Amino acid sequence: MTNHTTMTFFNAQSTLPPVIIMGAGPAGLAAAAELAFHNVRSVIIEPRGEVSHARPRAKTTSPRTMEHFRRWGVADAIRARAPLSPQWNRRVVFCDTLKGSVITEFDNVFGLSAEPHELFAESGQQVPQPVVEEVLREHVVSTGLVDLRLGERAVKVHEAVDNVTVTIERPDGSSYDLVAEYVLGCDGCWSIARESIGATLQGSSAPTSNLNVVFKSTTLRPSMGDAVQYWVLGPEVKGAIGPLDREGTWWAGLSGAGDWCDARQAVRLIAALAGRSESEIDIEVLSTDRWTPRMLLADRFASDRVFLVGESAHLNPPFGGHGFNTCVGDAVNIGWKIAAVLDGWGDRHLLGTYENERRTVAQETIEAAAKNLRASGPGIPRSPELLQATKTEEFHSLGLVLGYSYRDSPIIASTTAATPTNVQTYRPSTEPGGRLPHVWISPGHALYDDLGSGFTLLAPAHADSVVVARFVERAVAQRIPLSVVSTPPGGPWTPDEFLLIRPDQHIAWSGEQLDDADLERAVGRVQTSDRTRA
Ligand SMILES: Cc1cc2nc3c(=O)[nH]c(=O)nc-3n(C[C@H](O)[C@H](O)[C@H](O)COP(=O)(O)OP(=O)(O)OC[C@H]3O[C@@H](n4cnc5c(N)ncnc54)[C@H](O)[C@@H]3O)c2cc1C
Repeated sequence: MTNHTTMTFFNAQSTLPPVIIMGAGPAGLAAAAELAFHNVRSVIIEPRGEVSHARPRAKTTSPRTMEHFRRWGVADAIRARAPLSPQWNRRVVFCDTLKGSVITEFDNVFGLSAEPHELFAESGQQVPQPVVEEVLREHVVSTGLVDLRLGERAVKVHEAVDNVTVTIERPDGSSYDLVAEYVLGCDGCWSIARESIGATLQGSSAPTSNLNVVFKSTTLRPSMGDAVQYWVLGPEVKGAIGPLDREGTWWAGLSGAGDWCDARQAVRLIAALAGRSESEIDIEVLSTDRWTPRMLLADRFASDRVFLVGESAHLNPPFGGHGFNTCVGDAVNIGWKIAAVLDGWGDRHLLGTYENERRTVAQETIEAAAKNLRASGPGIPRSPELLQATKTEEFHSLGLVLGYSYRDSPIIASTTAATPTNVQTYRPSTEPGGRLPHVWISPGHALYDDLGSGFTLLAPAHADSVVVARFVERAVAQRIPLSVVSTPPGGPWTPDEFLLIRPDQHIAWSGEQLDDADLERAVGRVQTSDRTRA
């Protein structure tokens, strides 16, 4: 018989934990990190005791995600633990076999940069997902604000008007209830949080599944030199392959092989990718991982108190490396909003803008990744020109990664109509909704480093101090945390432009006149977000 405790409290004072996070994948850990950044406590429930390195999925961490990691103070730790640095390599090669000739290649892929870059404060980083999860686990625990409950599983979510109860099962089969103000469903594609709010995933999946293989080889040395990915378009076998470290650990993605290929057959296929016979190369299979490309979007992302974050809300094919990066973007978006509501300066309706803002990004990401999937199938061309034409967006997608905008959100004082995202090209702009363009203040010192954890007013150095002070007073009166920073030279702003920046570094409002009404039109929207949009 199982033992069930009816109520467990977060601490001795019997106060509700503000937030329960279901799942410690990238989405859940990022959500806890963002909440802790705003001084909000959370409990994470995660069945996996240890992070396994056997089947790393994501390897591509985008510049935008690295910027979030920088804000939380973990970017350096991620780089220190990543086996491959952007200085070491930034190349993707298409070839006949790893012993054959190069068909074409792409450089500086995935926002990888050897030098400080003018468009982003942090270069992209190739790093196996388990390394990211380990660093984030250590970080969230080190904040002292996160109770990471490993080995436990959420089995039921019950939402009431004033709170949410999550029933949690311990490894010994006993269970207990935990009550919180909000629940973040970061429990991945089979989410029970999604089920609890009556949402379903809509969309499609690819008809065949693929097989990822992690293997050791001391003799695999591609004749075309180092690269982060090699796409082999041989007559016999097609697949992608890349290093996980510089000590002979590799991953291989065998297209269409998920339904029939075992470890033994994988060795034969990998030898064929290498252009060798099995006796010519040592291949020790460490693990296999079957996966299916999916293009799925939940029909709703949230109820009043339960929010779907990450793959519980959307899934895209991994081509382009957007999956977990999009999950981190979700976590940052809902994290600062919940913090604002708990702190009393954000209206409850602010939480309703989470779905509005992130659904568009998820949709755009699914579309871009699905296009990359179509350009990767059995009909993938072997001509260098066609490959450049069809694959560039997969490896150069700063327009999507840095350029997505929340301009249609009710809490953005947008002045222009929506324009379709250009996946490839990012153009820094002060148009409200977009990410504040990055500028370097001095070597290693980014403008982002100077922003407050609440809102920040970027004011021209020559701005009338009385006008600025009045704006600050209005914010103080509404309890909205506001920092003021002098606009540095070097950005796409005009000399007289004021910019109001949200906690997530997106521009809420821009203009050259900072009159009293602007506070209502801009900052005040976070308090009246249900009423302000016509
Ligand atoms: C082959 C492949 C390559 C990829 N490459 C990339 C890449 O290069 N870049 C990129 O950005 N993305 C990539 N992805 C996508 C990335 O792996 C996912 O987007 C990411 O893991 C999703 O994060 P998540 O936290 O939403 O979900 P998950 O990682 O699935 O985490 C969900 C967590 O919830 C836990 N959980 C489940 N049920 C419960 C429950 N009932 N109670 C509590 N906890 C629960 C699970 O144990 C898990 O820890 C790739 C995916 C694949 C398949």
